Amino acid sequence: MSRHVVIIGGGPAGAAAAESALRHGATVTLVDSNEALGGQYNRRIPDAFGVRRPLSIGHGYTETARRARLLIEHPRCEYLPLASVYQIERHPDGGCPTVRLLLGIEGDQRTHRVIRGDALVLATGAYDRVCPFPGWDLPGVYTAGAAQTLAKTQRVLIGKSVLLSGTGPFLLPVAQSLVDGGAHVHAVLEANPGRRILRHWAARPWELRHSAGKAAELIEYVACGVRHRIPLRTGRAVVAVAGDGKAEQATIAQLDEHWTPIPGSESTVSVDAVAVSHGFTPQHELAVAAGARLTAHGFVHVDSAQQTTAENVWAAGEITGIGGAQVAAVEGAVAGVAAAGADPAADRPLRARHRTAEQFVARLAAAHPIRPGVLGWSRPETVLCRCEGTTRDDLTTAWARAAGDSYRPAKLATRAGLGPCQGRMCAANIEALRIGVSAHPARDAPLACQDGARGDRNPQSPTTTAPPRAASPMPQGLAAATPAWRPLAAPIRLRELADLDHEGQS
Ligand SMILES: Cc1cc2nc3c(=O)[nH]c(=O)nc-3n(C[C@H](O)[C@H](O)[C@H](O)COP(=O)(O)OP(=O)(O)OC[C@H]3O[C@@H](n4cnc5c(N)ncnc54)[C@H](O)[C@@H]3O)c2cc1C
Repeated sequence: MSRHVVIIGGGPAGAAAAESALRHGATVTLVDSNEALGGQYNRRIPDAFGVRRPLSIGHGYTETARRARLLIEHPRCEYLPLASVYQIERHPDGGCPTVRLLLGIEGDQRTHRVIRGDALVLATGAYDRVCPFPGWDLPGVYTAGAAQTLAKTQRVLIGKSVLLSGTGPFLLPVAQSLVDGGAHVHAVLEANPGRRILRHWAARPWELRHSAGKAAELIEYVACGVRHRIPLRTGRAVVAVAGDGKAEQATIAQLDEHWTPIPGSESTVSVDAVAVSHGFTPQHELAVAAGARLTAHGFVHVDSAQQTTAENVWAAGEITGIGGAQVAAVEGAVAGVAAAGADPAADRPLRARHRTAEQFVARLAAAHPIRPGVLGWSRPETVLCRCEGTTRDDLTTAWARAAGDSYRPAKLATRAGLGPCQGRMCAANIEALRIGVSAHPARDAPLACQDGARGDRNPQSPTTTAPPRAASPMPQGLAAATPAWRPLAAPIRLRELADLDHEGQS
């Protein structure tokens, strides 16, 4: 009998999982909140814009289009676009969790669906992380992902005169899309020192032989930077933005290797926008709800077949670690095979690509960590939780007064993390600050709660993969106690909840 595989997420990981599960005889339901397949990587201008040529930015459109055609036309694949999964429910019998979703555009009449398959693949991706500094909440300061999405899907520029700051190769395609749209990019500032980046990327190049596509992409970005005379400066960052109600002036500082600004190194530059990216935060609420354990860095813990610690639940792509679209697709392919009931280890070429993908993730994390010096960028009056306007001072005062220094008393005393985003943007930064305040981390350690690293890698040897640690499913009570526990993964109107019958159908 064909297994029914339910996949959440239509990005590179989810789409590849669907294709490989179909190839192994499964029946697939692919649920994605976007209107088209491709996820964050292959976002494009809506057809209604009548643009014939997608921007030169973004790669893999041909592959995404091929895969989309295959999935949409396949008789065993049900593709549900514009479908938001708002809840996952575990069962006492331990079988595959039930998925609850809403079909249609928020604000219109949406319909409910409840699906329970034989296997569940979670491929919900990640979103930008920004570490706070004075002025990070001013209009004109954007996440690099937002700048990229606006450019790719709307051809809207965040400004005419832009500075890019943060860590990781993602800054490069964003610079390209901004200059493609006509912006002047002052510089791309990478906070980690050049020698650290080189050390990790240049070591044992043969291990990355299946990443030739990435090298070609990198050459294209570098060529674009040279053509447009965009300086790429390492060991530097935007540490403050000022202006009269909007970003007008950015302060750049040279950083030591721990990201502590070097006194006297500051300079200012006039800008009308700043785009910032300090890595990515996994979109893991559905995994937590399914009972999957997270790594120390908040990613979903998976084994060599991409299986999570929750029964019948697999995960792939950036919820399991940051590696880019090609890595996400390889992980998705492995998860799809395993969820369909086959053995991914039997496919030797896939196994080899998976190994390279893991190497790539480990190097990326080692080359572009967030360092503890970042905690010194914010000031007492800097807002950390933007939904509730909670400042750094509010939090440190709450911890000083509370009996314990855990996240919970600070949350209750200051409301940090209780606003509309439910801690999605601020929780990692607040947790990092809490740990930094209570016991300053070893100067050599990567920042606790940083995103961009997987917890199951051996930190001494970033290019070797440690065997996965034994891990068991997260007990329901423990899951509910973590800041990552968010019972509703997508907004749902009270009216829509009220319209449900006891089976969860509208
Ligand atoms: C804003 C942004 C822009 C980016 N742009 C680029 C770029 O231009 N170039 C580049 O190299 N990398 C880019 N990246 C990195 C890129 O996201 C990844 O490398 C790659 O897309 C990861 O693939 P994935 O399948 O793991 O996740 P994603 O591509 O993020 O796909 C996840 C999918 O899951 C869906 N989803 C999430 N939650 C739910 C839910 N509850 N219900 C239903 N569906 C859900 C999302 O709508 C999305 O379609 C970007 C990242 C971000 C955050």
